[in-house]
Amino acid sequence: MAIEAKATQRMVVPYRDLSVRDASLKAELLEAVDRVLSHGRLILGPEVEAYEQAVAAYCRRRYAVGTGSGTDSLYLALRAIGITAGDEVITTPMSWIATFNAIALCGATPVAVDVGEDLNIDPALIDAAITPRTRAIVPVHFTGKVCDMTRIDEIARRRGLIVVEDAAQAFGSMRDGAVAGSMGALGCFSMNPMKVFGAYGEAGTIVTDDETIARKLQSLRYAGTVNREDCHDPSINGRLDTVQAAMMLVGLRHLRAKIDRRRELAAFYARELAGAVVCPREEAGDFQTYYSYTVVAERRSALIEHLRECGIETKIQHPILMPNHTAYRHLPRPHIPVAERLVERILSLPNDDHVSPEQAAHVAASVKRFYGVQ
Ligand SMILES: *Cc1c(COP(=O)(O)O)cnc(C)c1O
Repeated sequence: MAIEAKATQRMVVPYRDLSVRDASLKAELLEAVDRVLSHGRLILGPEVEAYEQAVAAYCRRRYAVGTGSGTDSLYLALRAIGITAGDEVITTPMSWIATFNAIALCGATPVAVDVGEDLNIDPALIDAAITPRTRAIVPVHFTGKVCDMTRIDEIARRRGLIVVEDAAQAFGSMRDGAVAGSMGALGCFSMNPMKVFGAYGEAGTIVTDDETIARKLQSLRYAGTVNREDCHDPSINGRLDTVQAAMMLVGLRHLRAKIDRRRELAAFYARELAGAVVCPREEAGDFQTYYSYTVVAERRSALIEHLRECGIETKIQHPILMPNHTAYRHLPRPHIPVAERLVERILSLPNDDHVSPEQAAHVAASVKRFYGVQ
């Protein structure tokens, strides 16, 4: 890496690089694909079952159900608990639009509750947003940081609501020893290639301890059919491909090293950037896997431009709060001043496993130079 940087003179740091460079990993993946091609059960094949068992064990849950995407996971989870027209579902304004979409696709209304400085839903504001129509809470573990599930769970129990975790960004993250996805009635994951534990195409997974819900999910992911023939409940085709499951079984074996690398990088950024921007904080008991390393930065546009000139690609994840998307402008305007302030300042720095120590040092030095910090 260092040699490459010297040769090109100008170091280029992409935000994400999804190419598989490790030759032995590539060989393992190709071998897994080869096995699937040989047996030919391309959808819901034996690797899907093995993958589901492995993910259930990882998440310390009884059941895992593979799906076609994180969007499928959320939609199917909400369908499985009976969310329907006229219901309200409380969530955060800060997420990828899939969270709002899943609620809306069930015919329900998404209700945005403001975030705290950690970019996650502020539990202190949830009670006031509950109405007689509220059925569920969908906390999003944004950037991979697990929400305060103890407080959210307490509210849900007291008010008779179901909690569905949007853990799309948080596979492997923990809080007080509990892994993301293990705390709600259901936990929903996306395994799209951008995620820390990603497939090599679209994929998702739902975890739960409830057998009835698991069976319902298996039906809903295949057109709402029973015995894969008779439709009982109209639904989508949201099954998991065998090839993706086979490749993710390989990925799962390498996940710990990937997470460790991201955490090392986060610790480095936190040390270097403390005086320049607001860095993500890990509270005692937090174990963050850093889907994104998202800082809060003043003069963000100028910083982005400066970093671009330094060859560094950054990303605003996500630039539009969910209630502000065109499709949701008709809803009553939520009171979300913290999210509105933070969405103008968040910036995600390159932090995947392709970022070399030299590149990380270049990112840190470039940010510090912008703010005139030593
Ligand atoms: C990625 C993501 C989703 C959607 O997952 P897809 O696999 O892209 O459909 C949902 N919620 C959050 C918070 C996400 O980051």
